[in-house]
Amino acid sequence: MSEILIRNGTIVAMDRAHGATPFAADILIEGTEIRSIGSGLAARPDAQIIEARGKLVLPGLVNAHTHSSETFLRGRYERMPLELWLLYAYSLLMNDPIGERLLYLRSLLLAMESLRNGVTTLCDDFFDPPRHDLDRLATVFRAYDDAGIRANVSSAAMNVHTLDALPFVRDIMPSAMQDLLDFGPPMSAGAYADYCRAAFSSLHGMSGRLQFMIAPSAPQRCTPDLMAACMELAVERHVPFHTHVLETKTQAVTGLVHHGRSLIAYMHDLGLLKRNTTIAHSVWVSDKDIELMGEAGVSVAHNAVSNLKLGAGIAPIRRLLDAGVTIGLGTDGVSSNDTSRIFDVMRVAGLVHSAAGPDYEKWLRADEILTMATIGGAKTAMLEQVTGSLEVGKSADLLVLDMRNYPFVPLNDVAKHLVYSENGSSVEAVMVAGRIVMQGGRLTTVDEQAVFDEISELVPAYLAEHAELERRNAIFEPVLAEVHRMATAMDISLNRYQGDAV
Ligand SMILES: [Zn+2]
Repeated sequence: MSEILIRNGTIVAMDRAHGATPFAADILIEGTEIRSIGSGLAARPDAQIIEARGKLVLPGLVNAHTHSSETFLRGRYERMPLELWLLYAYSLLMNDPIGERLLYLRSLLLAMESLRNGVTTLCDDFFDPPRHDLDRLATVFRAYDDAGIRANVSSAAMNVHTLDALPFVRDIMPSAMQDLLDFGPPMSAGAYADYCRAAFSSLHGMSGRLQFMIAPSAPQRCTPDLMAACMELAVERHVPFHTHVLETKTQAVTGLVHHGRSLIAYMHDLGLLKRNTTIAHSVWVSDKDIELMGEAGVSVAHNAVSNLKLGAGIAPIRRLLDAGVTIGLGTDGVSSNDTSRIFDVMRVAGLVHSAAGPDYEKWLRADEILTMATIGGAKTAMLEQVTGSLEVGKSADLLVLDMRNYPFVPLNDVAKHLVYSENGSSVEAVMVAGRIVMQGGRLTTVDEQAVFDEISELVPAYLAEHAELERRNAIFEPVLAEVHRMATAMDISLNRYQGDAV
């Protein structure tokens, strides 16, 4: 088995013993795993040596929530709340699914940008309507396999009509317009469970790095029997039940109007809050919701940048942490974030909570943000035994950062530099499962320029089709804007509104 010795590095291990406190050490990697961490480690004569004096070695970052489906829509939208943005990024009227080659390149590009910026694990809530197709899912897996990244990949499920997953819209949308959105009978719980079983037997575990995860899109978008089937499978296979809950005020209103209670209380009543439950967003949660989430030991993927871009609000992260909820950081898709850089989310998460309330002792600390970006994220992905910290026996998923670079000069406090100064530009080398996937600032697994060339050749035609699709969908915009206005104007008497205490 090959050996790599990282010598004389400044280690930020994010393990229980050290947390984010740096220490000087060597790291010996054998095959895919970290074999030892300590000073003056010896390696075999044929071991590859990485001299890390003046360099920082930290666990690879975990992107706890993203959607590869959005990768080509970077830099396209602004000034739209979620419900309007969805109309264009995940349009109601659809074209044929994206072609096979572009499907591959879309995921590959996401993985490439992630690795270059220090993300070694991503959780891709892949959404590919109108069908769940194992071959297309396999294409996404192949892209991540080729890039060399670690990934949890879903095939996001929903079986409630979009118009029934929103409040008011059935009443205010003209029926002729509703008729345009007849998509036929929805998928049954059994059909989705069969699909997931096939994905588990054919793709799950690929190359030891790629997993299938279960992703019912949101409680208002799935029937209770579908969500029950999803949870059963998630528990059985020990993978996340990855879902979106209470991202916007409109969704908070949806819970009250459709179920007479918060969507978290609704999930609790259906037995859907468990260790496996990973909730993207959790912005519009009440004190009672937070209590239920903490008791159940769920995880939250905090998408600080996306939540700002879509005007969703600021998730009450301090109160979730206090309740015992595990927090990871997510970019969300590249359309609602415009990058897949977790360093950006770290910085925004480090800053935005100070605007949520005056009680400065409750503002988040840099070491807490780093925890979310590493071991916290790994827990949200149910991969904490594998990645998220530098520990003997864990997979060698790590970053080497050059501290002779602007974000670290002059050096004060490493954790604070990582959260408030670093943007990915100091990442020099990246390793996933003991394999060097980036070195000297270049990916070793993919010819980046060739991929850029192919994308600039193929994607303009796709985007032209997408522009035409946006024009067709624009007829629905006034109705969805009205839904947004009605929902946001409602006094929903949550015990908390945006802008109140942290
Ligand atoms: Zn999402």
